[in-house]
Amino acid sequence: MKFHELNEREVEKALNTDFSAGLTEADVKNRRKQYGLNELEEGEKQSALLLFFSQFKDFMVLVLLAATLISGLLGEYIDAIAIIAIVIVNGFLGFFQERKAEKSLQALKELSAPQVQVLRDGEWVKIPSKELVVGDLVKFTSGDRIGADVRLIEARSLEIEESALTGESLPVQKKTSKLTSSNLGIGDLENMAFMGTMVTRGSGVGVVVAIGMKTAMGQIADLLQNAETMETPLQRRLEQLGKILITAALILTVLVVLVGVLQGHDLYTMFLAGVSLAVAAIPEGLPAIVTVALSLGVQRMIKNNAIVRKLPAVETLGCASVICSDKTGTMTQNKMTVTHLWSSGTVWKVDGVGYNPRGSFYRNENEIDIKDEKALQQMLMFGMLCNHAEVKKKDEDFIVDGDPTEGALLVAAMKAGYNRNQLLTQFEIINEFPFDSVRKMMTVVVKDQNGRQFIVTKGAPDVLANVSESILWDGKRQLLSKDMQNQVQEAINDLASQALRTIAIGFKEVPAKTVILDEKEAEKDLTFIGLQGMIDPPRPEVKQAVKECKEAGIKTVMITGDHVITAKAIATQLGILTKGSKVLDGKALSEMSVEELEEVVDDVSVFARVSPEHKLKIVKALQNRGHIVAMTGDGVNDAPAIKAADIGVAMGITGTDVAKEASALVLLDDNFATIKAAIKEGRNIYENIRKFIRYLLASNVGEILVMLFAMLLALPLPLVPIQILWVNLVTDGLPAMALGLDKPEDDVMKRKPRSPKEGVFARGLGWKVVSRGFLIGIVTLIAFMITYYQDTENLVYAQTIAFATLVMAQLIHVFDCRSEKSVFSRNPFGNKYLVWAVISSVILMLIVIYYPPLQPIFHTVPVELRDWFLVVGLASVPTFLLAGSFLMRKTK
Ligand code: ATP
Repeated sequence: MKFHELNEREVEKALNTDFSAGLTEADVKNRRKQYGLNELEEGEKQSALLLFFSQFKDFMVLVLLAATLISGLLGEYIDAIAIIAIVIVNGFLGFFQERKAEKSLQALKELSAPQVQVLRDGEWVKIPSKELVVGDLVKFTSGDRIGADVRLIEARSLEIEESALTGESLPVQKKTSKLTSSNLGIGDLENMAFMGTMVTRGSGVGVVVAIGMKTAMGQIADLLQNAETMETPLQRRLEQLGKILITAALILTVLVVLVGVLQGHDLYTMFLAGVSLAVAAIPEGLPAIVTVALSLGVQRMIKNNAIVRKLPAVETLGCASVICSDKTGTMTQNKMTVTHLWSSGTVWKVDGVGYNPRGSFYRNENEIDIKDEKALQQMLMFGMLCNHAEVKKKDEDFIVDGDPTEGALLVAAMKAGYNRNQLLTQFEIINEFPFDSVRKMMTVVVKDQNGRQFIVTKGAPDVLANVSESILWDGKRQLLSKDMQNQVQEAINDLASQALRTIAIGFKEVPAKTVILDEKEAEKDLTFIGLQGMIDPPRPEVKQAVKECKEAGIKTVMITGDHVITAKAIATQLGILTKGSKVLDGKALSEMSVEELEEVVDDVSVFARVSPEHKLKIVKALQNRGHIVAMTGDGVNDAPAIKAADIGVAMGITGTDVAKEASALVLLDDNFATIKAAIKEGRNIYENIRKFIRYLLASNVGEILVMLFAMLLALPLPLVPIQILWVNLVTDGLPAMALGLDKPEDDVMKRKPRSPKEGVFARGLGWKVVSRGFLIGIVTLIAFMITYYQDTENLVYAQTIAFATLVMAQLIHVFDCRSEKSVFSRNPFGNKYLVWAVISSVILMLIVIYYPPLQPIFHTVPVELRDWFLVVGLASVPTFLLAGSFLMRKTK
C-alpha cells in the first residue's frame, strides 16, 4: 500500500490503529503472530556439527589420526583407541570453547540492540526495536535510528539522513502532509522515514507501516551483511606467531624423529611419537582460549556496567593513556537544581532538594513573595515555556523525563507556583527550534491569548548575550551597552565560579502571524532577561577514579560545552585541573590548527565551551602526540570523534543510537568511574592472556626438549605418545583456562599503560618461556635418567616417573605464571579456579598411574612412595630456582 499518498486519518484507518493511545497489548500479540518479529534475516550460521568437525581439520591432527589408524591396523588396538579417544575429547573441548566464544559475542550484540519509544495502551514506553509491529506509534529525536518503516504524523524541524538507503549523505527535511505525485523514489518520500536511517535533527512521531524484511532496508538486506572484524590485534599477532611456532615445533619434532632413528629406534615408534609430539607442541588451541579469555573479561565488564561492542577494544583499553570525558552526566550526576537566579543586578536564591518541586525564594537571605518580583516571574515562566522536560513522581521521589537542565528550570518554576499545562492554555507553542550543542540555545515561538506573538529563547549566557540587543533592567527595556554587557558578564562569572551551570533567558515580540522559518531569524535582536544558575554535583566516585588513573599513567581530560569558569571550578574539585595544567576554550580551539593544538595539548586538562566538532580535533592532536585516546560522547555530532578515538565510549542512558553505534564501549551508567574500571579489566585480561601463553608455551618447550635431549643422549623414549597427548589435554588445558580467570595483580593500576606496539613476547616473556621450558625439560630428563639407570630393564617405570615429573613440574610452574615478578609476590593459591584445576589434574594423573585398568593404556606402573620425593623435588626446581634468583636480584 502507498501510505505516503494517504492522509493521517486514512493511514490510521488502513492500519486499524489509534493515534491517541497506540495499540493494545492484545493487538500487538495478534499482529506479532501474523507478521513475526521486526528483524532482518541474518546470513547462514555455521551449524554445531560443522563446528565440531572443523576441530579435526588441523593438518597435524589428521596426520595423527592417520598414523593411529595404521597402528590400529598393525594390531596396536589399545594405543589406537586411546589416541582417538583423546583426540575426540580434545575436539569437544575446542568445540565448547568456540561455541562459548560465539555465544558471548552474540549476547554482546543483543545487549547493544537498539531501543525505540512506542505508544502502547496510552503510554509511551521503551522497547527493543525488534518488538515493533505494524500500526505501532513511535517517537524519535535527533540521534535515534529509525526502527521500522514509518509514515510520519508529526515532524518538528525533523531531518533524517538516509544514506544507508539512498547513498545521499545530506539529510532530508521531513514533513507530514500527503504526497500526490506519482513515481516517487525512496529519497522523495518526505512524509516517510525508513528503518536504519538516522535522525540528525529535530523530533517526530510516526506510525509503523512495515517491519523486518518487508521494510525498504529488508529488501536490500543482503547487501548489508556488515561483517565487522572482531579479531583483536593480539589475536592477529598470535595467528602470525602460530605459523612460526608450528614451523619450529615441526622442525624440532623432525629432529627428534631423525636423531631417534639414527640412534637405532625403529621408524614406526619414532613416527608415532613424533606426530604425537607435534600435536602436543603446536598450540592450535591458543586462539580459541584467547577468545574465551577475552569474552569472559567482557562478561565481567558487563557486571561493572561497561559493554564492549568491539572485542579489540578490550585490548586497546589496556593501552589507554588519555581519557577525554564529557563533564555533564559522566563526571557529574546530571541531577540539576537551580539555586541562584540573577536579573537587573539582583540575586535570588532558591532552596529545595533535587527535582522535588517544593522550595522557597530568598533575596539577601530573606524569604520573598514571588508576586512582588516581576523579572523573576518572567524568567521562571519563560524557562518553563521553552522546555521539553517533564517532572514525574516515582515512588517517593521526583524524576525528570527529558533533559535534566530543562528539568531544573521546570522545577524552579514549579516552586514559584507555575504549572506547565496551565501555562500552555495561555500560550500556544507554534514553532520550536530544538537545543543543539553547537548553537547552545533553544527557542520556541508562542502566541498569547490576545494573538501577540513572542520568541522565547534560552541558552548559554555568553551566546545569548551576543544575540541580544537590549536588556530588561528593573522592568524597562534598555540598550545592551558595553557597560551593561560587563555587568552581565560579571554576574555570569560570579555564578560560574561557584561551579554553577548557567542558563540565560531572553525574548522578543514579533508582529502577529509572522512566520519564522529558521533559528537564525528567531535568535537575534533579543531582549536579555537574566540568568538561572544550577548545581550539578560531581559524582562522588569520580575524584578517586581520576586519582587512580593518574597513578596508572593515564591523564584525564574534561571536555564540556559548559562555561569556562564552571568547568574550571568542577575540574579543580575533581583533581583534574592541577598546578601547571591549562584550560582551553572553544574559541581558542577554533582558531588553532591540529598542528598548533599538538604543541600545547599535553598541558591542557580542560576544554570548555567546546562544540562536538572540536572533539575530533582534540583526538587527532592527542593521537599525533602518540597517545591512545578514549573519548566519550552521546550526541550525533560526537560520533566522528568517537569513531576516530582509539576507544570510542558512548553513554548508555543519555547516548543516542548513532553515538552508541560508533562506539567500542558503552557505559550503562554513564559514569566516568566505569571507564576506569573497564581499563583496569582491560589491563587484567591482557595480563591473563600473557600468563597462559607463557604457561602453555613453556610446557610445550619442556615436552619437546625432554624428547630431544633423550634422543641426543641415545636414551630410550622418555614418554610414550599417549602420555604426551594426555599431558597436552589435561595438564595444559585446565590450568591455562584457570589462568584466564585470574584476578588482577595489586599493581595493575600502578603501572604505565602498555604500548600497543608491544609484541607477544615483550617484557621478558620470551625469556621466561625458554628458560622455564628448558628447566622443565631438563628436570624431567634427569628424573627419567636416574630411574632408568637404576634398573634398565624396567623402562616403563622410568617412563612413568618422567611422565609424573613433567606433569608436576608444569603444575608447579603454573603458579609462577600468575605474576610477572615471582611466585612469592602474591598468594600462590589466590586463584581458586587454578587451585581446583591443579588438584583435578593431579588426581587425574594419579588415576592414570594407579588405576590398574588404565595402566596398559597409558603405559604406566605404580610409583613407589619414596620416588615421589624425587618427582616432586625435581619438579619444584624450575619454579623455585627462578624465584630464588629473582629474590637475590631484588635484595642486591
Ligand atoms: P558536556 O559536554 O560536559 O556534556 P554540557 O552538557 O554542559 O557539556 P552542552 O549540553 O553542549 O554541554 O551545553 C552547553 C551549554 O548550553 C550549557 O552550559 C548551557 O548553558 C546551555 N544549555 C544546555 N542545555 C540547554 C538546553 N536544553 N536549552 C538551552 N540551553 C542549554
